[in-house]
Amino acid sequence: MEATASLLDAAAVGDLVLLDPLTEESLLHALQERFRHRDIYTYIGNVVISVNPYCSLPIYTPEKVQEYHGCNFFAVKPHIYAIADDAYRSLRDRDRDQCILITGESGAGKTEASKLVMSYVAAVCGKGEEVTKVKEQLLQSNPVLEAFGNAKTIRNDNSSRFGKYMDVEFDFKGEPLGGVISNYLLEKSRIVRHVRGERNFHIFYQLLAGGSAELLQRLRLRQDCRHYGYLNRESCSLPGVDDAANFRAVQNAMEVIGFSPAEVTALLEVTAVVLKLGNVQLSSRFQASGMEACSIPEPRELEEICQLVGLDPGTLEQALCSRTVKARDEVVLTSLSVSQGYYGRDALAKNIYSRLFDWLVNRINTSIQVKPGKQRKVMGVLDIYGFEIFQDNGFEQFVINYCNEKLQQIFILLTLKEEQEEYIREGIQWTPVEFFDNSIICNLIENGTCGILAMLDEECLRPGTVSEDTFLGKLDQVCAAHRHYESKATQNAKRVTDVSLPPRCFRIHHYAGKVTYNATGFIEKNNDLLFRDLSQAMWASRHPLLRSLFPEGDPQKVSLKLPPTAGSQFKASVATLMKNLYSKNPNYIRCIKPNETKTAMLFTPELVLAQIRYLGLLENVRVRRAGYAFRQLYGPFLERYKMLCKKTWPRWAGSERTGVEALLAELPIPAEELAYGHSKLFIRSPRTLFDLERRRQE
Ligand code: ATP
Ligand code: MG
Repeated sequence: MEATASLLDAAAVGDLVLLDPLTEESLLHALQERFRHRDIYTYIGNVVISVNPYCSLPIYTPEKVQEYHGCNFFAVKPHIYAIADDAYRSLRDRDRDQCILITGESGAGKTEASKLVMSYVAAVCGKGEEVTKVKEQLLQSNPVLEAFGNAKTIRNDNSSRFGKYMDVEFDFKGEPLGGVISNYLLEKSRIVRHVRGERNFHIFYQLLAGGSAELLQRLRLRQDCRHYGYLNRESCSLPGVDDAANFRAVQNAMEVIGFSPAEVTALLEVTAVVLKLGNVQLSSRFQASGMEACSIPEPRELEEICQLVGLDPGTLEQALCSRTVKARDEVVLTSLSVSQGYYGRDALAKNIYSRLFDWLVNRINTSIQVKPGKQRKVMGVLDIYGFEIFQDNGFEQFVINYCNEKLQQIFILLTLKEEQEEYIREGIQWTPVEFFDNSIICNLIENGTCGILAMLDEECLRPGTVSEDTFLGKLDQVCAAHRHYESKATQNAKRVTDVSLPPRCFRIHHYAGKVTYNATGFIEKNNDLLFRDLSQAMWASRHPLLRSLFPEGDPQKVSLKLPPTAGSQFKASVATLMKNLYSKNPNYIRCIKPNETKTAMLFTPELVLAQIRYLGLLENVRVRRAGYAFRQLYGPFLERYKMLCKKTWPRWAGSERTGVEALLAELPIPAEELAYGHSKLFIRSPRTLFDLERRRQE
């Protein structure tokens, strides 16, 4: 049994619940020692910590799959396959829906972990033609979503720029039937801007590098990506990445999923439109009235866009360069300034792309969805951005950290719930233990009337001039007394002099640390408005796909109601996600990035320590051993320790439980250290277990 094998050696502590003493340093030390021995996986109970090795290790072979298939979780080396196996068997044999929550910072290995889990489950969950087809479709959704939703960033060459949750559904025999994918918050700003050294979404480079001459001609695209304003002008290709081959893989994946050739073409046409929009140049021209106005001096790109998606160039030009304003009963066309024009153009490109991405997810779902009425068991896999603390934190970090705060909350709730259930099942007295309850922080953000998101919405809807300053003023009024909120005003009032806040910033004390948010851009990003003229122009297109992305552009359906804000949409989807997760048995994979340079097998302690904090690992261990740190079925326990007692050695004739009782009665262990459940022995502190282990080795 690896989890307790020679526990006296830090590198061998496969389960940190057994760490003694338990401190940040000892936790860090244990992970580092294990990593040095190439043990990248470590448990905290049934939580797996995974430290990215940045090199391929020979631990994902078919033989390994066999080794973990049907294994006893604690009898084999910690491995992501063990948790996948445990979750799958619990789903199949005990009828318990499962979810696997994968968190960690960018580059920590979340997406790789989610693929390892999927491929493991696919490898062990049944054969047959129909089942194989379903598996293929589920697995092939990855390359398609990665092409459209991932990009090279400074931190990760294949960084997911969206959150993903996938429910895989099984029948009563444990064979896969299909699934449902949900996506969260695509980083659409990347469409129009990315920092030096990063790229736009993979699909653009893949399409240009791998599309046939005929396809590119049809899409009116040039092969050279340097031609496109939205793409990186310095470096288009990535070392070690074959964009052309990946494009073929994406095309193949779409075919496997069941996209028709016409659908693929339509998808690529809209993708091309986004790319080409970035090349539509605007300039200013003086009107007869002497006023400056926006115009398109070189209409070629605009005309090609219009040919691609069946639009009248005049309509699009007008929508890009001017705005209709309703004043009383009059409709007036006012010209935009050049900068307003570019703003609208970029907003359009971002909107088309993010709606296209939603369409793509829906389209995949249509193929993989299970017919209603079928009895099913579900395994959900969540691959979502971890806690983010940057130099400059904006609206995106705010919502991402809110989501992590919710995940932490559900972690505590579910872990305690699960512990409690086990104690009840085993008939053991349970006294709840104190721990930090972060619902106070969740409430600060999400409360329906006085939460930060609600106040931001209120500010966005308020007529008159709204600004970040009025928003901050309101926050100060409402949240000043909150223990987890800090701003210049509260600092002054409390005479806090530690780290003073930069202008227009507020700070939240998250469970994982303090984060300073810059309120600039909060209102605009929350509003996420697109000029109505642009959505109407898109709806006027004769391209069914593009048109379907802009239902609000239908003049018949003009509504005065503003669309829901980005913040409230995100809050609603997080709430749905939490409800879904709460109904399932959770399994956690906490991913850690060991160095900033993507170097193989390099472990930077300071970096890992910071993540140990953000991931709340110490708290994690505390919650896990809130009651009893260690538990084991009577049989295996007796087998391992029977040598410590004459009565039980070499064989015990009675029941396993009485054997364990007889054995432990002989040893000097305080009674409160032990509890006898119906099927398991519980040991309160790791020290007692170490003691047993030491005796065994002597
Ligand atoms: P992001 O939040 O940016 O999407 P992520 O946590 O999903 O990041 P991954 O894309 O899964 O990170 O991993 C980053 C890179 O690290 C991978 O492309 C791969 O090179 C390497 N890597 C991750 N996990 C493993 C592993 N188990 N074995 C070997 N290499 C790995
Ligand atoms: Mg990822």
